[in-house]
Amino acid sequence: MQVDRRRFLIPIAGIIAVLVVAAVVVVAVIVPQRAAVDAATARLEAAVEARDAAVAAAEEARAALLAAGDEASALLSVVGRGAVADPSTLDALAAVTVDAGDPPVPNAVPPAPGDAAAIDAVVERVGAETAALEERAVSLAAERDAVAGASLAVVASVHAWGLNTPTPPHAPADAAEAYTAALSALAEPAADADLVALVTAFRTAFTTALAAHELASRSVDAASVQPTIINGTLIANKTFRIPSSYGAGLTPETEAAFAAMQAEAASLGLDLYISSGFRSYGSQEAIYGNYVATQGQAEADTHSARPGHSEHQTGLTFDLNSITEAFGSTPEGLWVRDNAHRFGFIVRYPPGKEAITGYIWEPWHLRYVGVPLATELVTTGLTVEEYFGITSVYSY
Ligand SMILES: [Zn+2]
Repeated sequence: MQVDRRRFLIPIAGIIAVLVVAAVVVVAVIVPQRAAVDAATARLEAAVEARDAAVAAAEEARAALLAAGDEASALLSVVGRGAVADPSTLDALAAVTVDAGDPPVPNAVPPAPGDAAAIDAVVERVGAETAALEERAVSLAAERDAVAGASLAVVASVHAWGLNTPTPPHAPADAAEAYTAALSALAEPAADADLVALVTAFRTAFTTALAAHELASRSVDAASVQPTIINGTLIANKTFRIPSSYGAGLTPETEAAFAAMQAEAASLGLDLYISSGFRSYGSQEAIYGNYVATQGQAEADTHSARPGHSEHQTGLTFDLNSITEAFGSTPEGLWVRDNAHRFGFIVRYPPGKEAITGYIWEPWHLRYVGVPLATELVTTGLTVEEYFGITSVYSY
């Protein structure tokens, strides 16, 4: 029997045509679209990863700035004005303001949309956020460098102070070595050095060496120091020291001469009083030690004597009225300048003779030397050092 094949051929051709069209649609439209979405999704993942890295870098820079700020505050609390060569470094550090802002918080990324163009819009937004975070990390790092620089300037200033403050000469070798080592550690601290710890160690080493020195000097002193008397005048200056056991108050002749001077001044309506008289070795040690701690040794030495070198320990010296340079131009200060010699006193540290006496002008500091010598010194304009041809310079 004969079968009509065409009856089957027509529907089969239709099915094939549909399949071909479907295949063409898949190959020409859906596959490229899917590939574009995949590529865009990969770009988004990379962008998010880069932004996460930028968030971490900004947070790290912010933490470093906050740590530098904490270190600056701690430095200010351990460094006094007397312990720096240049106090303006402390002022600069105190003026530093740390502005770290809030922690960086990235914006949420929405679930990937269906088409590549929409995904790329998100990629662009994440990229802009990354650039802003990177910029913030750079400015935080710059701020951190500025704060750290101000801290390092303070440490350099403490180092300069230390270089200007000789190792206490009678400190035992181990204390002296510890001081020298602590001082040199301040010279060029490593980038990650704990500056507060370095400065604290230095201050401790200095205090320890100074205390050991004082202890050692006392035994040296008892064995070897004798008062220096030239032509009947007891000398106490930076070159000549007197024993730590010397003195027990103002001498009777000093007190009598002051009473006479005070009475004559009072008759003229001037008020003279002793604001600081005799000082023992121990009290001078405390006063001088306090000046060294607050001002540094170089500054303290211009106006305060080291223990054993103070005229106040002689019992022949006192400070009048207000212990200020301004006293020199008060009616009392001017009268004392012109009349004290008639009672046996001299203004021991006159202006213009700082390099010779070793002290700044002290219009309030009077020394009893007796009427003949006082008159001669006032007449000639000579200091005690010039008159006797002696120096006033520490040998240690
Ligand atoms: Zn004095």
